[in-house]
Amino acid sequence: MNEQLQIERQRLDADIVCVGFGPATAGFLTTLSRQLLNADGTPAIESAVTPGMPPQVLCYERADDIGFGVSGVVTRARALQASFPDIKTAGIPMAAPVSEEKILYLLDPHGTSRRSAALKIADTLICAARWALPFEHHALNLPWTPSFLRKHDGMILSVGQFMQWVGAQVQSTGTVQIWPGTPVSQALVEGKKVIGVRLLDQGVDKKGNPSDGFTPGMDVHAALTVVADGPIGPIGRQLDEIFGMPGGHHTRDWAVGMKFVVDLPEDTPLKPGTVLHTFGYPEPEIFGFLYVHPDRVASLGIFVPSWFDNPARTAYRYLQHWMLHPYLWRYFKGSKLRSWGAKTLGESGKHGEPHLTGDGYARIGEGSGTTNVLTGSGVDEAWATGTQLAEAVIELLKAKRPFTKEHLEATYVKRRRASWVEAEGRAAEKSRDGFQKGAVTGMIGMALAGLTNGKFSLGHAPVQPWKRIPTMEDYFAGKISRDDFARIRAECKAKKVSLHGALMDKAGWPAIPFDGQLLVSHQDALLMGGKVQAPAGYADHVVFLHPDLCEKCGARICIEACSGQAITPGETGVPAFDREKCVHCGACLWNCSQANPENPERMNIAFRAGTGGLHSAEN
Ligand SMILES: Cc1cc2nc3c(=O)[nH]c(=O)nc-3n(C[C@H](O)[C@H](O)[C@H](O)COP(=O)(O)OP(=O)(O)OC[C@H]3O[C@@H](n4cnc5c(N)ncnc54)[C@H](O)[C@@H]3O)c2cc1C
Ligand code: SF4
Ligand code: SF4
Repeated sequence: MNEQLQIERQRLDADIVCVGFGPATAGFLTTLSRQLLNADGTPAIESAVTPGMPPQVLCYERADDIGFGVSGVVTRARALQASFPDIKTAGIPMAAPVSEEKILYLLDPHGTSRRSAALKIADTLICAARWALPFEHHALNLPWTPSFLRKHDGMILSVGQFMQWVGAQVQSTGTVQIWPGTPVSQALVEGKKVIGVRLLDQGVDKKGNPSDGFTPGMDVHAALTVVADGPIGPIGRQLDEIFGMPGGHHTRDWAVGMKFVVDLPEDTPLKPGTVLHTFGYPEPEIFGFLYVHPDRVASLGIFVPSWFDNPARTAYRYLQHWMLHPYLWRYFKGSKLRSWGAKTLGESGKHGEPHLTGDGYARIGEGSGTTNVLTGSGVDEAWATGTQLAEAVIELLKAKRPFTKEHLEATYVKRRRASWVEAEGRAAEKSRDGFQKGAVTGMIGMALAGLTNGKFSLGHAPVQPWKRIPTMEDYFAGKISRDDFARIRAECKAKKVSLHGALMDKAGWPAIPFDGQLLVSHQDALLMGGKVQAPAGYADHVVFLHPDLCEKCGARICIEACSGQAITPGETGVPAFDREKCVHCGACLWNCSQANPENPERMNIAFRAGTGGLHSAEN
């Protein structure tokens, strides 16, 4: 037997182990760490594994540092303020109170977007009556922000800066250890019980086989495993595979959010606290946001959702067209890119809620279905469920009750069901079903659900994303002839590049006027806006499960949608994956046109635990 394979896997015993340090775990650890010690520093509760000490609480985070998450954040901050009553004046870098909110319907200044007949009629009517409407620079400023969308008493944050601020406080209590750069590869499951986690093996080749310096990932045993690895987390998905989803629940609604952090020009009229939300352009399905931080810094970006039927759905190029919309470009012209990022959002909300607890584990945050797609809010909800679990854990530890499914249901789930997160999640449950029938029905459905507190909605339950994706030729029919298509395909294949750039050019999208500051090539953004790093000695975390399906796949949406240009046309019919360009956005997980034969709720790509990614503590 190979010597390397005989290296023993280390074991560590803890009381509580957490997977991921996002807002959900931050809420959990903030609440928990405050109650583990008495005022005199003695343990308020005793550890089961280290008698005489407070409970041993460990948190493993995949990213290379605390605060390398991605989120543009405007939040009502209800749960955050409950944890930190002085949060608005705490001096968190890049934080600002919301001062102004606008919702803008962006018309298409070029006529290149794909608009339904209903939308074209609406556009014509708006243009005809523009003198009487709050209309400027091809945009209609909606005169009224519905109450469910308002964040007027809330805050703008940088999730990176906020997480660093929280992380420092939590660790300074001395009761919690957070280990960044340490991905969890799997939950350890015995029968129906989760008994801890296994960390990722190091010193392996691309396929995970032991290689130079092989170090098997440690097994961390704990009475409670807190699963908070977000919407694309491998541990949450492993538990879904093992325990299934509750009846009728699924995770079919997704979006990839791509954002830039920029320095606005010196003479910008935009005030800190300004919040703009947009819809209508560059395609009707794409939503945009602009949040202004202090010191002329802004977060801006778009969401490209799973119901957008374009198989060439590149978030990067669409983000550039969005920035260039006349209403926005007057603010962005002269701006400079500081950093950028991309991350998948789980948009199924309560539809996507898994089993929240089981023996030995509990799930919190976005991976547990918290994100509210009606109010456009996820951070506060994730944080709230973390605090609810912490209160439940303290109650159980004090009562010396084990972390069984029954006890966790009676403490954590009970608190969650009684909270605003649950009530608002129910109101939002069907709010986006209308988008299954198009952007106009989707917007009307959202308004209907929002104004009736979820009593009425339009549309139908979402279908699996892979079922919606047409072929490239069908999507661009009428704009690009079959002959041109064949030529573009052949040219892109020879250059080993994705198709979307050439297809969008051919379909009439204007060229991007690169300025080397804000409008830069995708490749330059990877170099300028955060820098991608991938430590050596780890396996590829993106895996094409059934190469035969890739061989005959016509859409190859994984290549077009890849946020880091990490998936490219391969030498064979199977795409190639370059770990050193991957920003860990997770978009490839659901941007695949083929169902996984073993599970049609999944697709032909596995997104496993991995290290590295885009480094920025501003996103
Ligand atoms: C572009 C964008 C804009 C957004 N805008 C807003 C907004 O304006 N307002 C708002 O409220 N919300 C917004 N959201 C949503 C919000 O960011 C999420 O709802 C929130 O971050 C969820 O928190 P979480 O802790 O549940 O999960 P996450 O933030 O996803 O955190 C999960 C953590 O787990 C880590 N992890 C994953 N796998 C592993 C593993 N195997 N081992 C160890 N660690 C692992 C990840 O690296 C990550 O740090 C936005 C999201 C995006 C992408
Ligand atoms: S991963 Fe999916 S979309 Fe990409 S080539 Fe394979 S089957 Fe097609
Ligand atoms: S390969 Fe990496 S960068 Fe590309 S879509 Fe997948 S997770 Fe995102």
